[in-house]
Amino acid sequence: MTAAADLIASAKQYTLSVYRQRELVLERGQGARLWDTEGREYIDLSAGIAVCGLGHHDPDLTAALVEQAGKLWHTSNVFYSEPPLRLSQELVEASRFASRAFLCNSGAEANEAAIKLVRKWAAGQGRSAERRVIVTFRGSFHGRTLAAVTATAQPKYQEGYEPLPGGFRYVDFNDLAQLEAAMAHGDVAAVMLEPVQGEGGVVPAAEGFLAQVRALCDRHDALLVLDEIQSGMGRTGELFAHWHDGVQPDIVTLAKALGGGFPIGAMLVGAKVAEVMQFGAHGTTFGGNPLAAAVARVALRKLASPEIAANVQRQSQALRDGIAALDAEFGLFSQVRGRGLMLGAVLRQAHAGKAADILDHAAREGLLLLQAGPDVLRFVPALNISDEELSEGLTRLRRALQAYLAG
Ligand SMILES: *Cc1c(COP(=O)(O)O)cnc(C)c1O
Repeated sequence: MTAAADLIASAKQYTLSVYRQRELVLERGQGARLWDTEGREYIDLSAGIAVCGLGHHDPDLTAALVEQAGKLWHTSNVFYSEPPLRLSQELVEASRFASRAFLCNSGAEANEAAIKLVRKWAAGQGRSAERRVIVTFRGSFHGRTLAAVTATAQPKYQEGYEPLPGGFRYVDFNDLAQLEAAMAHGDVAAVMLEPVQGEGGVVPAAEGFLAQVRALCDRHDALLVLDEIQSGMGRTGELFAHWHDGVQPDIVTLAKALGGGFPIGAMLVGAKVAEVMQFGAHGTTFGGNPLAAAVARVALRKLASPEIAANVQRQSQALRDGIAALDAEFGLFSQVRGRGLMLGAVLRQAHAGKAADILDHAAREGLLLLQAGPDVLRFVPALNISDEELSEGLTRLRRALQAYLAG
């Protein structure tokens, strides 16, 4: 057995079988390239599910991590340390809406904090438990904890985990009339949504939809919670995805790219709800750990730069053009949708359900891609991806599509 085969066999024996991993063992990365233990090289257009916004092995992130590792790894949140405090301030200042930040370890935790805050806020207003409903959207994804998976309005993530926590209501994404009806009972405390649905197929909110949701929330005294865990941190071409829509949210959750690959999440809260959570209301052992926060500070500074915004725009167009050219050749896609470097190529009816097959071919051709459901190829590369890396990725995608069509 090769070393890789040996590792894979051990993974199959000793780890919970919740992932369907590709048969390769990644060892090293640089920019948008990865190498496996057999020395094979890949172009990475997945960036660890939109996590490695600055690509692999960014020298500034590494330097920040190493420097902090030489000073202090961890203190409890019952003591102050500098990196999480600075990061909180920098996030608040960058956000254009928030007054306070809560740091945690992951996306699900950030959403869990948001859900708890909504409930606490509504409770503080004297609303009974039945009048603290949170509306979410079909096709959404908010994480895997029990509350986050209940907010996630997709049965495939929920089945078997009943009883689920109560107080959630689902409506179709981009359907204002349904949302209006769902809020008409006067029992809704918050509406929670992704500005661009990620796992649900890379579906952006329709033009003007976020502003209409904001208006409905104002009319019904409900909070607007935006899950920017995948779409935030510069991915859409703005640091925050909702900046495109000119709305002011009450709560925004972040994770994925926030630490550039080091695990960290955050909940940002606006002035209206900044004082809801008081001593003892919530907490975390690791959240805002000095190592994670030190790395995230550098990630935030770099991802908020005009250079990144410009590259996202430019490479978004290049990727769209590249996919369009492949479609002209192969006729595989019905649509390319998304924003910035969060794009989904939707497979035509004749190829519905084949995204996983295409991903297999891509990996064989040295290209790592993601799907978003069975019918959508998802492109979420590093935001600093170079012309050369992207064009090599498209060349390999072309070979993969040829191989797929050859059966
Ligand atoms: C990935 C994701 C989450 C969950 O984040 P975890 O870090 O996996 O808990 C939540 N919301 C959205 C939009 C995501 O893409």
